[in-house]
Amino acid sequence: MKLHNKIAVITGGNSGIGLATAHEFKQQGARVVIIGRNPVAVAAAAAEIGGDTIGLVADVSRVADIQQAFGTIRERVGRVDVLFANAGIAKFAPLTDVDETFFQEQMSINVMGAYFTAQQALPLLTEGASVIFTSSTVSHFGMPGSSVYSMTKAALLNLAKTLAVELAGRKIRVNVVSPGPISTPIFGKMGLSEAAVGELGGAILAQVPLARFGEASEIAKAVAYLASSDAAYVTGTELLVDGGMAQG
Ligand code: NAD
Repeated sequence: MKLHNKIAVITGGNSGIGLATAHEFKQQGARVVIIGRNPVAVAAAAAEIGGDTIGLVADVSRVADIQQAFGTIRERVGRVDVLFANAGIAKFAPLTDVDETFFQEQMSINVMGAYFTAQQALPLLTEGASVIFTSSTVSHFGMPGSSVYSMTKAALLNLAKTLAVELAGRKIRVNVVSPGPISTPIFGKMGLSEAAVGELGGAILAQVPLARFGEASEIAKAVAYLASSDAAYVTGTELLVDGGMAQG
């Protein structure tokens, strides 16, 4: 029960890594607030996590939505001890095929969304709170077709370092978890055919020293560590949970 009585907010908490982390946080004693874009999925996930879990709908690419969500959190629970800014999308395309819409969609969800999630949570963050961003192992090497996605994830590495220093006066810790390939619904949302996803999966797998995809629960354990007082002296850093992929 390392998160006993903590209030933990998770964006993208209705699916994949966010949902697994919501379960882990709950098991560790936290009260969980999940934020997602799809109302049906959010309600189903909140019910699945159970207990007093709160499900809120917001599109993190819209600052007004984030503002409204944290307004509700202020009214309903009054504070945030753990913020897991995890919502994100992944779309791959070669340089020649990227247009403004493609570029802006990922920037506005993965970068702007994470940034303003932190900003809007800030008044509610308690002394000693933990903020965790979800980056990716792809921040550390070039993967063909991933230019926009990888840029968005690399941006979060510096955001965490900067906020770690900026918020240290309030004893707020800011860190990053960087997953390798994890079996979640994200691969089905990339706009690729099933065959292309299979091909991409095979190519990725060949680059993972531990020779398997990770499980969302394995990221959840790492996030729970960063969220807990076990990581009380850990700030501004990145925890790679990628089967060794970034070292290859
Ligand atoms: P997922 O598709 O299962 O979950 C993504 C979550 O983000 C969903 O809950 C979705 O509702 C939410 N989301 C997306 N756009 C949103 C928006 N505009 N507003 C609010 N919520 C929004 O995928 P996942 O694999 O669990 O991904 C979670 C995070 O992990 C993402 O940031 C992703 O980039 C990152 N990541 C995933 C992998 C992987 O292999 N699965 C690897 C590295 C990093």
